Amino acid sequence: MPSRSACAGPAHERFTAVVSGPRLRDDLGDLEGYHSPQVDVAVRLNTNESPYPPPPAFFEAWTAGVCGALAHRYPDRAARTLREALGGFLGQPAERIFCANGSNEVLQTLLLGYGGPGRSALVFEPSYVLHAHIARITGTGVVTGERRADFRLDPEGAVRLVEEAQPDLVFLTTPNNPTGMVEPRETVEALLAPLAARAKPGLLVVDEAYAEFSPWSAIDMVADGVPLVVARTYSKVWSMAAFRLGFGVAPASIVADLEKVVLPYHLSVPTQLAGTVALRFTGEMGARVASIKTERERVAAALAALDGVEAFPSGANFILFRTAGGQATWEGLLAAGVLVRNFARWPRLDNCLRVTIGRPEENDAFLAALKEVLAQ
Ligand code: PMP
Repeated sequence: MPSRSACAGPAHERFTAVVSGPRLRDDLGDLEGYHSPQVDVAVRLNTNESPYPPPPAFFEAWTAGVCGALAHRYPDRAARTLREALGGFLGQPAERIFCANGSNEVLQTLLLGYGGPGRSALVFEPSYVLHAHIARITGTGVVTGERRADFRLDPEGAVRLVEEAQPDLVFLTTPNNPTGMVEPRETVEALLAPLAARAKPGLLVVDEAYAEFSPWSAIDMVADGVPLVVARTYSKVWSMAAFRLGFGVAPASIVADLEKVVLPYHLSVPTQLAGTVALRFTGEMGARVASIKTERERVAAALAALDGVEAFPSGANFILFRTAGGQATWEGLLAAGVLVRNFARWPRLDNCLRVTIGRPEENDAFLAALKEVLAQ
């Protein structure tokens, strides 16, 4: 017990005098947080958001809905209206849809439910860091498969690893972040086969955060009895990163499991409403996707024409590229008011940077700054 005199003074002083502070779990001792700097610069092309806000009519309908909401009551735990609207949009029954606060929460709920101590998840690096990060936080063992030097997945090697390591979950991101590469349907089928054939099937999680920008989606492969979850987000094409809304499409039994694991009432009424209202604006969404894809091709062609730049093919709303300078290129761009994502010192991604496709004038600013930095 602290002495009387130790109890005098502000609370933080009293307690720092008695203990040095709680420690993270031993297995999380060297955990690093998510670090993508949020810097206030003129051109922000670092987090793959949409450069366009949702249309004004979306805000009118959403705010009207929020004003009419029963704020003193908890939200619908089953998010029925949103799931039915999404199901109609995706051609899947509402029972196969799980909604959460961003697709990150979908991934976390999957790992809480199907991972954990004594279980493992397979990831193919380089890929979306949060797969391995959340696995670790949930006490799930991480098995790392390597992509080839050109960042392509070797499907035979990947299947062999699934058979050898017997992971409980396999994460496949398509288009992959940060490389932008789209995996073919055959790779998804090849990875599913050994997981489904086991006496206790493993789960394939296809992270499709960027699928609307790519030529195909695995959503039509989701069926009851198939151990496949497709994770999607409203953060990119729906221009709703600030709302934090994502969803998983999965067999009804998996959705029922996830509902048991996730916190009750986790999805607020404004968030559920935003997701439902957004689906009335599919025409505007399609137009935004089309213009971003056109811009992606323009930026890709401009990068390909630059000496000293190696750009990787992308089916997403960003492009990964490598320069000889890497870190110095990133710093030069930042000094010119253009923020891109810096992977220059990451394992497997030496000297790589990732640029999000923005509005045409932002893309022009990026290309002009890059030319200048490379010329120095
Ligand atoms: N998956 C991938 C591959 C991503 O790149 C992102 C966003 N960076 C997410 C999931 C998470 O998106 P959100 O939580 O905003 O839905």
